[in-house]
Order: sequence, then structure tokens, then C-alpha cells
Amino acid sequence: MMDLQFDQHHIWHPYTSTTAPLPTYPVVAADGVYIELEDGRRLIDGMSSWWSVVHGYNHPRLNAAAKAQIDKMSHVMFGGLTHQSAIELCKKLVEVTPKGLDRVFLSDSGSVAVEVAIKMALQYWMSQGNKVKKKLLTIRNGYHGDTFAAMGVTDPVGSMHSLYEGFVVKHFFAEAPQCRFGETWRQEDIASLKAQLEAHHDEIAAVILEPIVQGAGGMRFYHPNYLLECKKLCEQFGVLLIFDEIATGFGRTGRWFAANHVDIEPDIMCVGKAITGGYMSLAATLCTKAVADGICNGQAGVLMHGPTFMGNPLACAVACASIDLLMENRWQQQVADIEAQLIQQLSPLAARDTVADVRVLGAIGVVELTQPVDVATIQKQFVDMGVWIRPFGKLVYIMPPYVINAQELLKLTQAIDEITR
Ligand code: PMP
Repeated sequence: MMDLQFDQHHIWHPYTSTTAPLPTYPVVAADGVYIELEDGRRLIDGMSSWWSVVHGYNHPRLNAAAKAQIDKMSHVMFGGLTHQSAIELCKKLVEVTPKGLDRVFLSDSGSVAVEVAIKMALQYWMSQGNKVKKKLLTIRNGYHGDTFAAMGVTDPVGSMHSLYEGFVVKHFFAEAPQCRFGETWRQEDIASLKAQLEAHHDEIAAVILEPIVQGAGGMRFYHPNYLLECKKLCEQFGVLLIFDEIATGFGRTGRWFAANHVDIEPDIMCVGKAITGGYMSLAATLCTKAVADGICNGQAGVLMHGPTFMGNPLACAVACASIDLLMENRWQQQVADIEAQLIQQLSPLAARDTVADVRVLGAIGVVELTQPVDVATIQKQFVDMGVWIRPFGKLVYIMPPYVINAQELLKLTQAIDEITR
């Protein structure tokens, strides 16, 4: 048996206390859409381990890629050396991401990819001899990671700005888009972003946002026209545009990337999470040739970043296999089927007193409750029902692996039905 006493008192889990720990469930294996607990129970995974396990666990093709790579080399430094898995992966990333993004910086996690994107934007303007464009503009309700620069552009109310007052740089925030995905576009939705750009464009290096889906900041889906207008304004005011597609990337919203809902090209884009099919930590920041050349023609001459595990061959090899699976294109039908089923089975819950709102986009289903949940209690209820769903605040949401079948998905939606009664 696993030593859960030790786990609870000595090991930090995400956002937890070591003095008042929440229960953790010991996992011994995971396969397909099932997570197997130490006591033998098998849970249907509704979370894809936070957006990442799109092909399911223990996938034979991803396992084979990892095994083949580990027998060659599991790691080699990226400074001065290169390898086939990184080259192949970056070619694929250039191919599948919006056109124009053809310079790739590999890093180890989503937060670091965001740090790198911010550095790219700042260094770009410095290299142009501009010493004042040192701020970022973003939208409220956003989330970009837990490192300091990423925290600075994460929603100032819902996150850690006041706790780390003095450490977190103060940036500019526009109101969050109100016009929902699927509604009629209202031009006034962009007014707040426009006003911020009009007032502060001299100081603003880049606009950074999560396109279409605001994830950890509230699971909100906004109108794609917002991105079109935003891009126009960035061009008009001479500001770079950064898309954080760490959560939305690789098919989750029904398109390869959320940017594809409107076919626009940001100057810089971050991807992570599902890039390795959830096998290990890897992320990438892509930018255009214009941005890369701008940076490299400047005083520093280089992009000032270089993590130890940059371009880790094991992660790159698995990422190549994961993108190959996506390129075989079954995910499009799978995500469309998940979306249709989520709409059918979750939408009726909106009529309940306990439910404030139901939203579905691609393989993401969100049931917003009227009251915040007690995570430990609701988690146990879900586990007892044989599903793995981890709510936060008022949000009970699922984004299952694309390979989930209709029966398995029904178990997830029935569990949500049950706890909203
Ligand atoms: N950006 C977005 C949109 C995210 O959803 C996340 C993770 N939830 C991050 C950045 C940070 O990624 P990581 O946790 O891999 O550092």
C-alpha cells in the first residue's frame, strides 16, 4: 500500500496545504480513458489530466515512440547539439500551427513557454531601439501560468496579484469579452481593449490572451470576432499579438488551434499540455520570422533563454508520435461526437436551481453552479460513482480524452447530472 500519510504531510500537490491536506487518491495504472486506483477501482477520466491526455493513457504508438527513443538516448543538451526528434517535431509544429509561425523555441512547461513569449516580445522592441514598450495588455479572467511573468498577465482578482504585491509586474487589463461563442457578435465587446490600446500603446509590447477559451480563469468561451478585431487593433497600434494555446491547442475546441476558428496569425504562439499526448512535460513558443529576425538583429543578438532540458529527445519523440496520430484526422470526428453528446446531455441541466450556466465547445463541457463546491466532498462522490472529475470554484467541467466512447462519456455526464440534483 502506498504511504498516504507521508504523501499528505510531506508532498505538496497543486495548490494544497501540508498542514491541512486534502485527500489524494493513489493511482497504480492508467489505460485508455481509465485511471486505476490502488484499491482496484477504475475511474473514467473526465479531465485528460488537465487537457493533456488527448489519445488516452498507455497508448501503444506513444509507448513505442518513447521506448524507441530511450534506447537511442533519453537526453542530450541542446546547446550546440541537435537531434532528429527535435527537428522532426519542429517541422510538424510549423506545419500544423497558423502560417507565418515558423521559428520554434522548445521549453519544458506551459508557464515557461509563456515566459519565453513575453521575453520575445520585450526583446523584439528593445532590438528596434524602443526602450518604452515594456508592458503587456491582456484581458480579465485570463490564466497563463504560475511563474512570475505569467502571473502578471493572469487575472489580477482571481489570482495572486495581491499576495505577491511588489513582485508581480503591473500590466494593463481590458474587460473580459462578454460576447459568447455562438452568439451574434457585438462590436462594443472590443471597446475596452481598444481604449487600453489608444491610451497606452506607446508602452505596450504585446497583447497576450487565450484565444476563444479562457480556461483556468473561468472556463469562458468568447466570440471569435474578438480575435479578428484584436488583431486589427494590434496592427493599427504597432503592438505584437501573443496567443496562449497551451490549453486550446491540438484539437480541443474542434479545430487544430483556437486561432483556426477565424484563421488569423498571431506574431507569437505558445503550445504545451497535449503536445506530448500528456506523456511528459514539453512546451513550445513559436514566432514569425519578422519577430525572430527583429530579436536577433538587436543588441543582444540572441534570444536570452536556454533551459537545461530544452528539446528533451524523449519528450520530442513522443510529441512527434502524438501529432502523427492527430494528423491521421480521427480526432475531428471524435471531438465533434463528444461535442454533440455533451450538448445533448449537459444542456438540460441549465434549468436546475443549482446550475447557473452550461457551456459546451468542442470536447469541453462546463456546468457552472450557483454555489462553489467543496472539492474534497464532491471529489469523493465522483470517485464513488466511478469517474474522475475535479471541479474548482463553481465550475464542474470535463474535457475527456478524444478516444472516449459514448457509453463512457454518458457515465461522466450522468455523474454531473447526479451532483447537480
Ligand atoms: N497557459 C494556459 C492557458 C494554461 O491553461 C496553463 C496551464 N493550466 C498554462 C499556461 C501553464 O502551463 P503549465 O501548467 O504547463 O506551466
